Amino acid sequence: MQDRQLNRRRRSLLSGLLASVLMPGTQRMTVATPLTEVLDRFQALPVDERMPTMFIGHGTPMNALEDNTWTEQWREVGGKLPRPRAIISVSAHWLTQGGVLITANDAPRMNYDMYGFPDELYQLVYPAPGNVSIASEIAEAMPKEVPCFGDNRWGFDHGTWVVLKHMFPDADIPVIQLSIDYSRPPAFHFDLARKLSSLRDKGLLIIGSGNLVHNIRLRDGKPYDWAIEFDQKIADFIDRRDFESVVDFQQLGRIADLSHPTYDHFLPLLYTLGLARPDELITSFCEGWQMPAASMRSFLVSAA
Ligand code: ZN
Repeated sequence: MQDRQLNRRRRSLLSGLLASVLMPGTQRMTVATPLTEVLDRFQALPVDERMPTMFIGHGTPMNALEDNTWTEQWREVGGKLPRPRAIISVSAHWLTQGGVLITANDAPRMNYDMYGFPDELYQLVYPAPGNVSIASEIAEAMPKEVPCFGDNRWGFDHGTWVVLKHMFPDADIPVIQLSIDYSRPPAFHFDLARKLSSLRDKGLLIIGSGNLVHNIRLRDGKPYDWAIEFDQKIADFIDRRDFESVVDFQQLGRIADLSHPTYDHFLPLLYTLGLARPDELITSFCEGWQMPAASMRSFLVSAA
C-alpha cells in the first residue's frame, strides 16, 4: 500500500515535471500524460479511492450501433475504470426549467429522444438498472437552494445510452440521470458541480455527456476554422486550469456563438470541470471531428 502510494507520488512528480518542460508557465498539462498511462493507474486503485469523472463528446446517436474510433476509445476507457457503485449521467439532452430532476426508478425506460434514424436504433435497449436509494443520496447532496425532485418518466436518453453501451456493455451498473436546469447561467452549473463533488468519494462515476463544439446544422466538409479555434481555446483554458474562462465561453463572441447556437451540449463540460479538484490530472482524448462542427474531444479527470 505504502509502496503504491509512493509510486503514485513519483509518477505525479514526473508528470508535473514533464508538464513544465512542455509548456513553461502552465500549472498542468492535459496532454502531458498519455491516456493509456492514466488508465493503467486505475488497475492499482483501492476501491475506496475517489472515482474519476469525465466529459464525453457523444456525437451522433448512430455511434450506439457503430464501431469507430470514438466508440473504441470509450470501450477502452470504460474497461479500465474502477468499477463504480453507480453512474450519474448529466446529459445535454435532459433540460429542465427552474429545478433539477433525478431519475428515481429502479427500472428506467429507454428514451429515444431523436428523430429520423434507422429503425435499428429504436430497437436498441440498454437495460441497466436505476437505483432509487442512490437517487435519494444525490438529492440529499443537492444544495438547499436548488429545487430538486425525483422523476419517474424520463429514463435514459441517447446522451446516456449511446456512450454507456460502449463504456459499460454489460449494463449491470445502476445508472441515474441528472437533468440540467437550462434556466440558469453557465456559472450556476459549474458551482453546482463543485458542491456535488463529494459524491465522487462515494463510488459514483459522474459523466457529463455533450460536445465541446456542437452545431449540427452544418454537416458537410472539413471542420470549420472557427470550430477548430473554439475547440483549441477551450482545451487551452483547461490546460491552464483557467476554468473561469471556460465558464465565460460566451465572451469568445462569434466563435462561441457559431460553436453553440444553443449551449446545452457545452454545459455538461462545466459539471466535469466543477467536479475536478485542483491536484488532479485532466486528460484530453477522443480529439477530432465527427461532423465539421461536432468536436468529439473528451476529458478524463483522475488522481495525479
Ligand atoms: Zn447530443
